[in-house]
Amino acid sequence: MGQVREMSIFMAGVALLLGGLLSASACTRSSVKSEAQGPIVLIVVDTLRADHVTCFGYSRPTTPSICSLEKDAVLFERAYTPRTQTTPAIASILTGLYPHEHGVRDLHSVLPDTHTTLPEILRAHGYRTGAFVSSFVMVNDFSGLGQGFETYDDHLTRKEPFRENFERAADETLTRALAWLDSAGSAAFLFVHLIEPHGPYTPPPPYLEKFALPKGGEKVPLDLVPSYQHIPGVTHLSEYVGRYDGEIASADAQVGRLLAHLAVRGWYEPATIVVTSDHGESMGELGEWLEHGRSVHDAEAHVPLIIKFGRQPDRRIHGGSRVAQPVSLVDVFATLLVEADLPLRLLRFSDDLRRLVDGQHWTGPVPLTELLHRRRLVLAVHGRNCMTHWKFRAILTDEGLLPNPKRASQWTEAAFEPARIDDQRKDECEQAVREVTPLVVDLLTKKRDFSVVQRLDVKEPGFRSKFVRSRQDPIVPLKESEREALRQLGYIE
Ligand SMILES: [Zn+2]
Repeated sequence: MGQVREMSIFMAGVALLLGGLLSASACTRSSVKSEAQGPIVLIVVDTLRADHVTCFGYSRPTTPSICSLEKDAVLFERAYTPRTQTTPAIASILTGLYPHEHGVRDLHSVLPDTHTTLPEILRAHGYRTGAFVSSFVMVNDFSGLGQGFETYDDHLTRKEPFRENFERAADETLTRALAWLDSAGSAAFLFVHLIEPHGPYTPPPPYLEKFALPKGGEKVPLDLVPSYQHIPGVTHLSEYVGRYDGEIASADAQVGRLLAHLAVRGWYEPATIVVTSDHGESMGELGEWLEHGRSVHDAEAHVPLIIKFGRQPDRRIHGGSRVAQPVSLVDVFATLLVEADLPLRLLRFSDDLRRLVDGQHWTGPVPLTELLHRRRLVLAVHGRNCMTHWKFRAILTDEGLLPNPKRASQWTEAAFEPARIDDQRKDECEQAVREVTPLVVDLLTKKRDFSVVQRLDVKEPGFRSKFVRSRQDPIVPLKESEREALRQLGYIE
């Protein structure tokens, strides 16, 4: 909300986009983070399928560092992204909202600055806030995801091998992130985004050799694979998978470097650490090859989620446990607010995952993965043991996602069309749909203002290259109007 011009606009935006769900009572807790409580660290490894993470059941040692957290963390076995693309998913993590709510429906849409983001709230409570990202689509001018970060480092230093996109290697991103963290101190919110597992799969040594798989078995239908994924001379799925695993391992090594750095500083134990991904990658499932963003099935929607909760003595959550309940990445928002000892008011979808660990009643809604396809909203309902596709009839207009008024009377269970169903789980799937139907009907029948979404033209000549430049991110204090708005919401005193 750095561009907020007037208090009234800001408050209207907050009221609209949080739906009045945050009450206005005053916060009674400390408004300044204590050094002793440790940093909050959010690590997003792009394009990381849950089933390629060793502690999620993968047979290869791709993720020793990420899985080293397991003994101190809670592992959410069934976490789902709300959208299988980078910027919509990360906007959801940072706002606690689904893409149809925050308006970043796909790549190249900018998160409206009227939203209240997690770093904005944390910053208002005395946290230093820094983000270090590694992909062209994450550039702030391109995504709006820098809201609330004092430092949003999107300086990208290299070109992808087979297309004009720019990115940054994980070791470079980490070097800058760790330098910033040292200067910021432990009362910090650090967001690190690593791009490695995203195609093309070109792992650096020694990971290329270490994870290479022999050529054999199924061939990749190269005519169905995005051109940027083509590696000359590489033809078999096994070879691509080996390279993909090598990329995961190279990113994992940098996660290990970050964890070691926290330990050296004495910040590991009190830190809250989240490791997840924005989406997975199809490896031939349902006819999708080496890509993501066009499907809601598990290969793309199921992501790892590991949370090491901070060691606050009065609210300690012990590590080493696993949660099988399906959850959504939108829950990270509420969870980190509670971790930061900040008030959590009723949010529409995002709920505190701590409830699943410490035995409280879980009231979080069924996680959804949404996709706009041919002017229809496609939803995956990840309820119970139901992991299937359900189509919901809705109309996408130029103004955004709106229901077709002529069909309002049909918004009932019958409006769902099971696209695929596993007979053995039919009853459970139908029960999940019954649970989620009122939610989705309500969701689609409320008009929402999507007109603020700004979509950028990536075909403009030189568009990508103009974002590749050194950035000096000045530390800008919160405006008084922004501070007052957060005060009225009860987030600061
Ligand atoms: Zn991504």
